Amino acid sequence: MEKDMLIQKSKDLLWLPFTQMKDYEEDPLVIEHGEGVRLYDTEGKSYYDGYSSLWLNVHGHKKKELDDAIKEQLGKVAHTTLLGAANRPAIELAERLIDLTPAPLKRVFYSDSGAEAVEIGLKIAFQYWRNKGYQDKTKFVTVTNGYHGDTVGAISVGAVDIFHTTYKPLMFDSYKVPFPTVYRNELPDPVDVRDQALAELETMLSEKGKEIAAVIMEGMVQGAGGMHVMPNGYLKGVKNLCKKHDVLLIVDEVATGFGRTGKMFAVEHEEVEPDIMMVAKGITGGYLPIAATLTTEEIYKAFYADYAELKTFFHGHSYTGNQLGCAAALANLDIFEKENVMEDVERKTAFVKEKLEALKALPHVGDIRQLGLMVGIELVLDKETKQPFPWVERIGYQTTLEMRKLGMLSRPLGDTIVFMPPYASSYEDLDAMISIMEQAIKETTSKVLQT
Ligand SMILES: *Cc1c(COP(=O)(O)O)cnc(C)c1O
Repeated sequence: MEKDMLIQKSKDLLWLPFTQMKDYEEDPLVIEHGEGVRLYDTEGKSYYDGYSSLWLNVHGHKKKELDDAIKEQLGKVAHTTLLGAANRPAIELAERLIDLTPAPLKRVFYSDSGAEAVEIGLKIAFQYWRNKGYQDKTKFVTVTNGYHGDTVGAISVGAVDIFHTTYKPLMFDSYKVPFPTVYRNELPDPVDVRDQALAELETMLSEKGKEIAAVIMEGMVQGAGGMHVMPNGYLKGVKNLCKKHDVLLIVDEVATGFGRTGKMFAVEHEEVEPDIMMVAKGITGGYLPIAATLTTEEIYKAFYADYAELKTFFHGHSYTGNQLGCAAALANLDIFEKENVMEDVERKTAFVKEKLEALKALPHVGDIRQLGLMVGIELVLDKETKQPFPWVERIGYQTTLEMRKLGMLSRPLGDTIVFMPPYASSYEDLDAMISIMEQAIKETTSKVLQT
């Protein structure tokens, strides 16, 4: 198809996720191919993949080892069902995942997206208590601004108002406790922010523990809620409270898993062992839709019984355990080992941190939050008072449009610019991307002030 026709048909035929199509029509973008950390549109213009194709990509695009692994698997079989039948790459990947994740996690339930992995985790937690004879433990506790995907179950434990308010009548109720957000907190010391948040959770669990199945939260960083990093000791504190009040802890590592925060999994920052953990996004290096929900053997055993006891986990998806995806995931994990990727992430994290200092000085950069190669840059109207820009200005969106002109792609979270480069970005790439963000921020913030 001619490139002009492609662009026209993208407007006429597609309905893009999380996209106001009226905006898209004004600034359409059709990606043609990728190479390393760059993407190319139909006009041949190149862009840095500054958001890792929405937080997925790890080793860059067209990574030879990943391409080869998929081709090799294609030579055997593309897909067979996991319903009642296993397959080789799914088994081999399960073993690797169990080795890499905290020790108590011993079972792997596959699915195709982060949201599905979350749905599965919620249903497992709910049915676990039921199978053990606790009929009342049916509720979930979540934290403000938490994000766990977009299906109805996942939004029911989500708490980002702009995404979730519309669907409230569809959602099941869950309890919410405050997330220890440090920026704009009345308490000046992160330790106090943490302790206050833990105290609220403690009150919740003391009062309602008997009806609560699980607490669910993201690992160390709230991603879609605005890139907020938990204060030290918070997640560990949550784990201890869950244990004390006999409530499961579910950690959603969909965004943070596979090295994004500087550890293979974010829970390692606090040596936390969740009862249930979800992984997706980076699992295949950003290649194919594989997700997994891991659980402890104790949880698994609560489902293991004679069929007539009806303790089976009645859940599954058509493409679960897809061989091509599992083969890509195995090759992805091999690259982590062969190329010492985690050491590389550590060095690049430090480099990015230093380079971002230059942005801190800008008059409208209110806060820069970073853990590993997961960064949020919050733009504010007034740095002193932390007053936001009027939301109708869409300063975040305008800034990413400007970045796009300058040759870098990302998507904002409100007024927070997301910087999540593929780990394979070179130091020059990282430097160039940070310069583009700096230039775009200067450009858009000065424009808004003039109008
Ligand atoms: C992206 C994300 C999800 C949803 O994953 P999908 O694959 O997009 O369904 C769930 N939880 C977190 C923390 C995420 O960042």
